[in-house]
Amino acid sequence: MVTALSQSARASRHTRICRVRNRMEELEVDAILLSHGADLPWLTGYRAMPLERLTMLVLRATGDPVLVVPALEAPRVPPPGDLFTVLPWADAEDPIDHVCSVLGGSGRRGGVLRLAVSDRAWATTLIELQGRLPDAGWVSASTVTSPIRAIKDASELEALRRAGAAADRVAAKLQGGEIGLIGRTELEVSGELGALLISEGHSQVNFAIVGSGPNAASPHHEPGGRVIGPGETVVCDFGGALSVDGDVGYCSDITRTVVTGAPSSEVDECYQVLLSAQQAAVAAARSGVTAEHVDHVAREIIASAGLGALFVHRTGHGIGIEEHEDPYLVSGNGELLRPGHAFSVEPGIYRTGRFGMRLEDIVVIGGDGLPEPLNSAEHGLVVVEG
Ligand code: ZN
Ligand code: ZN
Ligand code: ZN
Repeated sequence: MVTALSQSARASRHTRICRVRNRMEELEVDAILLSHGADLPWLTGYRAMPLERLTMLVLRATGDPVLVVPALEAPRVPPPGDLFTVLPWADAEDPIDHVCSVLGGSGRRGGVLRLAVSDRAWATTLIELQGRLPDAGWVSASTVTSPIRAIKDASELEALRRAGAAADRVAAKLQGGEIGLIGRTELEVSGELGALLISEGHSQVNFAIVGSGPNAASPHHEPGGRVIGPGETVVCDFGGALSVDGDVGYCSDITRTVVTGAPSSEVDECYQVLLSAQQAAVAAARSGVTAEHVDHVAREIIASAGLGALFVHRTGHGIGIEEHEDPYLVSGNGELLRPGHAFSVEPGIYRTGRFGMRLEDIVVIGGDGLPEPLNSAEHGLVVVEG
């Protein structure tokens, strides 16, 4: 049974569609074509199945948006009310015909069409569209949507807060020794973290990285059969999606590093550097500073401890319907942080072949321009001897 969006969820979709149209006008885009990816559920509450049949919302400057959807998947679409029209296509039909007929032949003031297409659309879809519309100009949909999507509205912030709190409860169990580590494989621990995310209210697990001992030095380690031993750092980085009132899920993402026995002085010293870098970066994340400034603050502290070469990735990424989205906290990104931005702050220190550590919170820029961390699980290096 597909549930309809709540009244307030529909109202926020109307607002988003309106903002998207304003920006299309600014960028002289005639229509936006949304297939796979987060833009479609953000605008409509419906997520395309990640299969070969075409799902595509055609949103022109005026008129009803039209969702071209495989007939057999149409029953999955929440009742759209006056948000958009559903146009189902049968297997014997060509869905590109439908997209083109909704689009019409020409752009604004009779010029050639300028179209924005989902960043995550299949290449086959874009190639077919380009074959049929050889004169059209193309941009990626994120050019239009990303700056709007990056500023979360009240309902999105509420979903992110709940997801963060649920991830915190799982982190507290890890740090409290309720999840056995020594003598178990990374894969077993990963499975337990995922199950706890679900029992704490997530609707979906996106990932649960567990990297122990030397594996902790690989930031995106794939948990495997390695048995966790005593006296090791264990990086646990996990997250999923949590939905409020049946709306689209919003993501959590948290990293805590624990140590299975008293840490060596080297590990302890590195961790104190990591902790001060992470806390300083969170405090620096204010309205009006650039995204890259937050990265610089974390990097500077780690570099001045002589460990700069061991911090091998950017400081953070935006988060919302997608785990990774704008704004990215990376050198070179001069974008200004603003109220409603939500992102991770997650510096790490990695000694290849020996140990690794990362500390990650999700942070929102509040209406007062100050950072509001969505995670509060213990930030210090916790010893878990079990
Ligand atoms: Zn990551
Ligand atoms: Zn993470
Ligand atoms: Zn992250």
